[in-house]
Amino acid sequence: MDRVNTKLINFPDDISLKHCAEIIVKGGIVVFPTETVYGLGADALNPSAVEKIFTAKGRPNDNPLIIHLHDISVLDKYVMEVPQVLSLLSKLYMPGPLTVVLKKKNIIPDCVTANLDTVAVRIPDNDIARKLIEYSDTAIAAPSANISGKPSPTMYEHVVSDLFGKADAIINGGKCRIGVESTVLDLTSEKPVILRPGGVPYDSLKLVIKDLQVANTSSSDTPKSPGMKYKHYAPKADMVIIKGDMLRVLERINSMSDDYSGVLCCKETYDRYDTANKLCAGSIKDPSEIASNIFECLRLFDEMQIKIIYCEYFDTKGIGEAVMNRLLKAASQNVIEV
Ligand code: AMP
Ligand code: MG
Repeated sequence: MDRVNTKLINFPDDISLKHCAEIIVKGGIVVFPTETVYGLGADALNPSAVEKIFTAKGRPNDNPLIIHLHDISVLDKYVMEVPQVLSLLSKLYMPGPLTVVLKKKNIIPDCVTANLDTVAVRIPDNDIARKLIEYSDTAIAAPSANISGKPSPTMYEHVVSDLFGKADAIINGGKCRIGVESTVLDLTSEKPVILRPGGVPYDSLKLVIKDLQVANTSSSDTPKSPGMKYKHYAPKADMVIIKGDMLRVLERINSMSDDYSGVLCCKETYDRYDTANKLCAGSIKDPSEIASNIFECLRLFDEMQIKIIYCEYFDTKGIGEAVMNRLLKAASQNVIEV
């Protein structure tokens, strides 16, 4: 891929966002912040622009992209039908960290959806993102703005490190508020199915959808959400998750630690690890704090050139489910029970 001249937008205002929108309209690719993670966006209706996303990320072509809208009012343009349940869901979570899979209209090119007859749609809860989409006057197809397989980017520094020289522009929106990707909910099957846990927890959706199902994402069958089959979110280091009673976890990790290993833990246990190579993701009392820090921690271990990460098994309540889904994937499901 030819190196491109990347514009860095450090103080996004209306003028610079309109300029970025022009880049999108002309078929370029732009990194923008959202409340979940940073996205790498292109005009969803322009196949050659969408191809640039796959090339820049090294993303497999059979992994479909989410299209991002600035407002629910334009949804009709892109999908065949809007199921009843979406009227309440959209009031609660659009804008928000919820992606819904719906039957697509032909206006969406096949490269966006990896030839599926469905399309994943989200409205980000971030003013910069929504303005960029609105000024572009289109839908923006965007996966996370990382090199495929690496931990998702939650900070400006992460996207500059991954995509400088590859994206036409990178917009600085500071640290992403939520820090894990959206929940992907399939509304095309008989019963709504969560294909990927994310920013909107199961319990919150269950309040609205009585017959809510959850896809088994750890099975080796062809998953309904194609992206779930890839090794994801992975730091360079190997990773092992230690699960069990807190004192035993502490003991086991301390007995295995050496100069080449790192520990990913919570605030409550941090002082009890002997090693200096330790990072605290947040308090066990605040799962959203842990969510906002995990990808940053995985990237920091890479910078520290750690060879193996020992990670605590965090609580899976609420957004904790999405956190452990990402960490287990990063660890290739490698868990030691103590
Ligand atoms: P990313 O944007 O990299 O966070 O990944 C988007 C996720 O949404 C991946 O797991 C995709 O497989 C999933 N996805 C996108 N479009 C569809 C679709 N039409 N049907 C099912 N899953 C989808
Ligand atoms: Mg991704």
